[in-house]
Amino acid sequence: MTNITGKVALVTGASSGIGAATALKLAAAGAKVGIAARRTEKLERIRSEITANGGEALVIEMDVVDPASVEAGVEKLIGAFGSIDIVVNNAGLMPLSDIDQLKTDEWHRMVDVNIKGLLNTTAAVLPQMIKQHSGHIFNMSSIAGRKVFKGLSVYCATKHAVAAFSDGLRMEVGQKHNIRVTCIQPGAVATELYDHITDPGYRQQMDDLATQMTFLQGEDIGDTIVFAAQAPAHVNVAELFVLPVEQG
Ligand code: NDP
Repeated sequence: MTNITGKVALVTGASSGIGAATALKLAAAGAKVGIAARRTEKLERIRSEITANGGEALVIEMDVVDPASVEAGVEKLIGAFGSIDIVVNNAGLMPLSDIDQLKTDEWHRMVDVNIKGLLNTTAAVLPQMIKQHSGHIFNMSSIAGRKVFKGLSVYCATKHAVAAFSDGLRMEVGQKHNIRVTCIQPGAVATELYDHITDPGYRQQMDDLATQMTFLQGEDIGDTIVFAAQAPAHVNVAELFVLPVEQG
């Protein structure tokens, strides 16, 4: 088993949902956690909760779309805690709509955050991990990175991209740099993700879905991330496909 006590983790999108829960779980397992997002007041609350539980956390204001913001955040974390051992590339959004509605601003935003944002953080942490000859990168894909759903075409495209990139990254940096890469593919998780849906029909559809099954909680995903991070050093849990029992 890998002991992650004292290891340094960066979690993007840590201000709510899966990211916030994962930061708390990593801190409870002994990691020092850089919690990154744009809403710093929410991050301050997570930091207080972590420190109240005896953990250590650093608030990092970060827009993953802006490479300079990402690089500054990574520098701040290394400056504070000295290394980066675990990265959870989690920031993302999912505004659903039919393609013929041409909500191109939302398409571009998903590509910018879900794909380019993840590439920005990966690029910012890799030099440090290569220098350390160790690290673990978690990339947040989705069940939508394995199959396609109506209304989620662009979101599915971004999450398929994350899955493809994760696989390639794992093959390139595993043996060469001793860096593990895990692609996470959750089903429905109860978070703020659905609040960004501007199409009333799809918003209703997601509300209905919540009445048909017990959604996962962010903590459930945080637990699987800690499990993979604590796997013995020679083990790479390459994929985590985690679903509500009732989800088809
Ligand atoms: P939330 O909406 O609760 O969390 C999204 C997080 O992303 C927030 O912390 C938000 O922080 C952050 N974020 C958004 N844009 C940016 C940005 N430009 N820069 C930095 N951070 C940003 O939703 P979830 O917790 O559900 O989503 C987390 C990830 O999990 C996403 O990638 C999502 O696609 C994925 N996922 C979610 C599922 C679900 O059912 N909920 C299922 C499968 C995957 P802030 O606004 O403060 O910047």
